[in-house]
Amino acid sequence: MSTDTKFVDLHTHSTASDGTDTPAAVVAAAAEADLAAIALTDHDTLAGLEEAQTAGQMLGVEVVRGCEISSGTEFGELHVLGLWLPNKTAVLTQKLAWLRQKRQERNHDIVQKLQDLGLGITMEDVLTAAKGESVGRPHIAAALVDKGCVSSKKEAFREYLGDGGKAYLPKTVLSPEESVSLLAGLGATVSLAHPMLRKLPSDWLESMIGRLKDCGLTAIEAYHSEHSETQTRYCLALARRFGLGVSGGSDYHGGNKPNIKIGKGYGGLRVSFAVLEDLRHHRIAVGLPV
Ligand code: AMP
Ligand code: FE
Ligand code: FE
Ligand code: ZN
Repeated sequence: MSTDTKFVDLHTHSTASDGTDTPAAVVAAAAEADLAAIALTDHDTLAGLEEAQTAGQMLGVEVVRGCEISSGTEFGELHVLGLWLPNKTAVLTQKLAWLRQKRQERNHDIVQKLQDLGLGITMEDVLTAAKGESVGRPHIAAALVDKGCVSSKKEAFREYLGDGGKAYLPKTVLSPEESVSLLAGLGATVSLAHPMLRKLPSDWLESMIGRLKDCGLTAIEAYHSEHSETQTRYCLALARRFGLGVSGGSDYHGGNKPNIKIGKGYGGLRVSFAVLEDLRHHRIAVGLPV
């Protein structure tokens, strides 16, 4: 099939963080869905990339090396995607290791809060639910389900783990400027993930995008499972206005977000191969490796 009619998914998660498919299984799902390329963008870890790349070579799916870094703002979290991460990245691996250490401390404190609320859950249960090195609330939710404390992960987030839940604790995160500068400094393509996911005031978002562009932001994730068509159009207009590229992906998490299918989101999402090609051409134009 010609690449003109092919599709990609530049935002996916594996068991290296909070997805439920192994990195190889994410690539297999992409092949099954006839995608030409994916980016594996696990939270705060690069541990799944080699396995995904090996699977990609075997299955004929291009795998872009990525990650997703949560950043903190006065309006809640803003996420940043790094794409085309280089292989040797001591600066990045050290920073991600520090973020995972902070996750571990937070997970411990959340489990303590759950125990104080009388729930029979331990850190060991959480680590059993986690298959990779980047551990967080979805794994605590899975442990709560396994232990019979709640009937679903959804309930776990609603009652305990979500913003405003009884055991909620914020995560130690970088500022958006730090996240973007870190990734841009390594020669990554840096995209602002799902900017419409939270209701951010548009004037605030627009001035943030201007500041992040000065830090090296190269794209906006206009196409995303949670974006309506109107929101996608707004993101495309923002990208044009700020002279930024566009990225897109489903935010596939396997069984942790069971209604989101790879490459298709809730059903209506399609990210054209041209989106990947435009990002690639921009890299070539500015002399970055592809
Ligand atoms: P953490 O990185 O530990 O703060 O966990 C954030 C992750 O939890 C997100 O990336 C989602 O995968 C997941 N998540 C956040 N809110 C919910 C929710 N209400 N229901 C299910 N999963 C959620
Ligand atoms: Fe996630
Ligand atoms: Fe995200
Ligand atoms: Zn994500």
